[in-house]
Amino acid sequence: MRGVVMNAPGDIEVVEREDPMIIEPTDAVVRITATCICGSDLWPYRGVEPVDHTPMGHEYVGVVEEIGDAVQTLKVGDFVVGSFCISDNTCPICRAGYQSRCVHGSFVAGTIGTQAEKARIPYADGTLVATPGQPDPELIPSLLAASDVLGTGWFAAVAAEVGPGKAVAVVGDGAVGLMGVLAAKQLGAEQIIAMSRHADRQALAREFGATDIVEVRGDAGVAAVRELTDGLGAHSVIEAVGTQEAMLQAIRSTRPGGYIGYVGVAHEGVALPADELFFSEVHLHGGPAPVRRFLPELIDLIWRREIDPGKVFDLSLPLEQAAEGYQAMDERRAIKTLLTVQETRESVS
Ligand SMILES: [Zn+2]
Repeated sequence: MRGVVMNAPGDIEVVEREDPMIIEPTDAVVRITATCICGSDLWPYRGVEPVDHTPMGHEYVGVVEEIGDAVQTLKVGDFVVGSFCISDNTCPICRAGYQSRCVHGSFVAGTIGTQAEKARIPYADGTLVATPGQPDPELIPSLLAASDVLGTGWFAAVAAEVGPGKAVAVVGDGAVGLMGVLAAKQLGAEQIIAMSRHADRQALAREFGATDIVEVRGDAGVAAVRELTDGLGAHSVIEAVGTQEAMLQAIRSTRPGGYIGYVGVAHEGVALPADELFFSEVHLHGGPAPVRRFLPELIDLIWRREIDPGKVFDLSLPLEQAAEGYQAMDERRAIKTLLTVQETRESVS
């Protein structure tokens, strides 16, 4: 099969990879319909994280091609959405809703590599969720978004305790931040302040439900959020960047007693000042999103066309042109790149 590997920073190649097959009875092999490039794929691309001939990709939708003997909830031919974290969905951590830290868990990124024609998914029952039927082609980008960016933005909003009547601020206007705006709207927030300096992303944020845009950062950004929230700061802040500047911005934009949902991947060197944190009296909750917790609900919302998160993809390319997709995101010409692998099959029912 064909699949994307990153040989070294900035060096993307589509190569022949070994066809995946069933190894454990809990496995499924999925024929990928669509996959995409994540903001986190840019860290190794830019040399911030080590990379060496690594199979790339962790977001995916597709059709179940083969299942192991122990798989119960899926059958061959099902269209599935998978989480970017492998989980059994039965251990105590999973049952508490933290499938991204499953005791049998692992990350799809770096090992399985779903920017490919097929993928072997371990713990298929606990990782994949079947859609109610074969999706209309126009639903595929939205279902794909649920695999990571939407699920991550949704988790950030839930972790930030977004709800009716709340004022929400979103730090970061990448795909996840924009999905955080969509989630906040869907969860009933009254005011949604998107922090963005880019006109195209501001427009999308407004479309997803932002009520206010703040273009300034740092102390000025904090002051602007406070001004919009009666001088108090937001009830709920979504942090979707992962840098120290963004975390501090989030903490300082939150009112005492408020909540921060942080999903930007923190890298080495990000440190939080304990004294400031102590006196801020804010709740911090985040990490890799337990997307599997939210998949059934998100698939349902997409299926009923109540949300259209697929709009976050502003570039679509065939898998073979993955290198151009990475370059476009690296140069910020694209918010998020979808890679098409093959046409969806017609329903045979
Ligand atoms: Zn588990």
